[in-house]
Amino acid sequence: MSTINRTAFDETLVSTGERLEERSRPAVISLENFSTLFDRLPIGAYRSSISGRQLRANAALVNLNGYSSEAQMLASVNDISTEWYVDSHRRDEFKSLLARDGHVVAFVSEIYRHKTRERIWVSENAHVVHDELGQPLYFEGTVEDVTHRLNANHLIESSERRFRSLTEKAQVATVLCDPLGKMQFVSAAFERLLGFPAALVEGANLFDFMHAADAIEEREELKRVALGTNSGVESIMRFHHADGRVRRWASIANNCLDDEAVGAIVLHFRDVTDSQLAEERLRHLATTDSLTGIANRARLEEAMASAIEAAKISGGKVALVFLDLDHFKVVNDSYGHAFGDKLLHTIAVKLKQSTGWNNVVARLGGDEFAMLIPQLTSTDALASICQNILQLLAQTTRIDGFDVSANASAGASIFPDDASSPAELLQHADLAMFSAKTNGRNTFRHFAPALAHDAKARGTLVNELRAAVAQQQFEVWYQPQLDLSTHRLIGLEALVRWQHPTRGIVLPDEFIATAEDQGLIDEIGTYVTEQAIAQTARWSKQCQLPLRIAINVSAQELRGKAYAERLQNTLRHHDMPPDRVDIEITERVFVDTHTYALEALNHLRMLGVKIALDDWGVAYSAISYLRKFPVDIVKVDRSFIGGLPDSANDRSIVRALLALARDFKLRVVAEGIERPGQLVFLQAHGCREGQGYFFSKPMPAAEIESRWISAC
Ligand code: C2E
Ligand code: CA
Ligand code: CA
Repeated sequence: MSTINRTAFDETLVSTGERLEERSRPAVISLENFSTLFDRLPIGAYRSSISGRQLRANAALVNLNGYSSEAQMLASVNDISTEWYVDSHRRDEFKSLLARDGHVVAFVSEIYRHKTRERIWVSENAHVVHDELGQPLYFEGTVEDVTHRLNANHLIESSERRFRSLTEKAQVATVLCDPLGKMQFVSAAFERLLGFPAALVEGANLFDFMHAADAIEEREELKRVALGTNSGVESIMRFHHADGRVRRWASIANNCLDDEAVGAIVLHFRDVTDSQLAEERLRHLATTDSLTGIANRARLEEAMASAIEAAKISGGKVALVFLDLDHFKVVNDSYGHAFGDKLLHTIAVKLKQSTGWNNVVARLGGDEFAMLIPQLTSTDALASICQNILQLLAQTTRIDGFDVSANASAGASIFPDDASSPAELLQHADLAMFSAKTNGRNTFRHFAPALAHDAKARGTLVNELRAAVAQQQFEVWYQPQLDLSTHRLIGLEALVRWQHPTRGIVLPDEFIATAEDQGLIDEIGTYVTEQAIAQTARWSKQCQLPLRIAINVSAQELRGKAYAERLQNTLRHHDMPPDRVDIEITERVFVDTHTYALEALNHLRMLGVKIALDDWGVAYSAISYLRKFPVDIVKVDRSFIGGLPDSANDRSIVRALLALARDFKLRVVAEGIERPGQLVFLQAHGCREGQGYFFSKPMPAAEIESRWISAC
């Protein structure tokens, strides 16, 4: 190791200075300046002899080599060039470059910090200083630690590599574009997910790949992203796949326009087509009635909620029509469920056809349907809409070879007039429907507040009626039927009474409809039939008269053969001849239950039982049913008898009915005879049998016995 003393060192500097001094003055100042600059340079600087001995090293270089002073360093360094380079070839390269060109620029190599042997990267500049004769005097050079910079570059490179491989393999497509959608970078996933070749995608506009309908909004959104006024929420848009399919992509946009490294809007896209479709399928399932394909209750509730929200803002009206088919259960039970399902489907189709596109038709379950009218123009319009629906349903449709028509009861309520919430709207339309049902069915009712009270009472009634059936609180009363000319007892009509524990006697008009709806009518009817036949058989024996018994039967009871079979057993058991039993049905049996009633009635007739058409002449074509259906007896409705003999209208109706019955060779029974004048008129026009308060009110068996049976 060679040692250099400080004096020799200074001499070199001074002599250099003297050489410079000759060309430019004042030399001393410039010398001092140079020395300061040299020492303060932030990068390492040195001067070394041609033989490689270090003559000077500035503070930065001393520091770079791990020393604390120049003297210390110079004392420690023997031949820096051989001790420095990690790869010794670098030293040879350095020397040969310097020899060839006279300088070396940005020569980057890995070196050892001289003192600590720690490996670092440096960038060197060096040149040879010559004397006037062109002889090399010494070397000067700078040394800069570039380890950090290299590492940084290395990091950039590897992060670039990582970025590429991530974006290429990713399921998320990345696009860098300008605020107008011109794409500056498109990741491989973009091409892959859409099936377009890279060449087609590069430099293209993002919106060229997007569904036109979505592009309109998304162009605006991209501008908002550029301005920083977008919502930042993931949005979903449709893209065209190369194969023509439409894909749904969820996108998130980041404004990196101000980020020097990016300078673009960065969009990440995820293909969500499958999950979206699955979600939609689920939603569809969840909101569609599987039987009819129309909306279900959930969908209706949604639609009601949004219609009401909209109406709150617009001040408009929302109407809900609630429809319940009359006697659907009977159809279902007698024709089978498959038939019932077809009928429901037909009704759904009719309802959909009958209504505007923005109305929602839903099946709420069973035979209940609803129609939501989100923008009702007027209350009057509602009534005619409902009437039209009922008429449409009443038109016959052919199902499995049967001509079927459906009657329904409709109820309606209006937001905000009748209800303030979706739930209330539905509830009140339901109440109105129920009111239509109890008012004779096949009609329409608008909600009225009183119905809400009725509903409460009905709830109580239903509960009490169930208890009544369970505890057998029913009793059969009888009303005598007489020969109008002799005033002799020929038979009795059985009329049920409910012995209510607190209210006393409750009349059938108050509970029969509910019993029918609640499926309780079979039990009540069976009881009445049993009692009435047993009682009449006993009375007949008692007074040695072939007394007849008339029993009222609801349509529901005539499903299948069960009723006829039970009746047959009862008749046998009490030794009652079947031809002394009149089964009273109303015309509604035919209207509501169609052909199956025919079967049941024929079955009863085969037993020998007579069929009586009750309330004859009231609502339907009196003649057509007589032709179509097996009827033995007609009971002229008491509403016509009531007007006799004063009302000309009633007189002519009754005359016509009696004539008709004669033509069809039917027995006629007049109901509701209250006054002698009525009796006289009926007798005069050939009516032979009748009943009414004029002769007797309905009475419990014991009273009938004491007043009528023991007397004959
Ligand atoms: P309906 O078959 O028309 O029965 C005749 C009704 O007229 C009875 O009312 C009777 O009390 C009433 N009536 C009889 N004579 C007169 C009169 O001179 N003037 C007036 N104003 N009314 C008279 P009720 O007992 O209240 O029965 C009402 C309805 O309930 C019956 O009408 C019938 O359709 C039904 N019903 C009665 N019992 C049964 C039953 O066991 N099963 C079924 N399914 N329905 C029944
Ligand atoms: Ca009757
Ligand atoms: Ca009647």
